[in-house]
Amino acid sequence: MEITCKRRIQFCAGHRVFEHEGKCKNIHGHNYVLWIYARTKELDALGRVIDFSVLKEKIGTWIDENFDHTFIVYKNDTIVEDIVRINKKKPYILDSNPTAENIALHLLYEIIPPLMADTGITVYKLELFETENCAVEVSLA
Ligand SMILES: [Zn+2]
Repeated sequence: MEITCKRRIQFCAGHRVFEHEGKCKNIHGHNYVLWIYARTKELDALGRVIDFSVLKEKIGTWIDENFDHTFIVYKNDTIVEDIVRINKKKPYILDSNPTAENIALHLLYEIIPPLMADTGITVYKLELFETENCAVEVSLA
């Protein structure tokens, strides 16, 4: 048996896709919606995968502090230094181009596992929406 719970978290961030062929090369922003999927084989004593508030507290807090209302920028983008200089909140410098795919993979593999380490719960899938119509889904291999 496997049971999944999912939690929605929203954040606003600016980005651009470095060397994009079209309009995404321009600086712009999204009201991102992140769906976090956590699963277990056994419910806790109260009958939950994990309390929804724990997902918000652990992952939502990290998102608020690092992604919300800032600029997510590729470390090799030519505008990194300008963004660091003009943005009041520290921009988030990513090792890869900040597409929805790369942002979601970074969260799933690098950020979320240590945040969830003491819960015994695995976040195995994320969906990241840039708009209501466009989203990516990433899962642990
Ligand atoms: Zn975009």
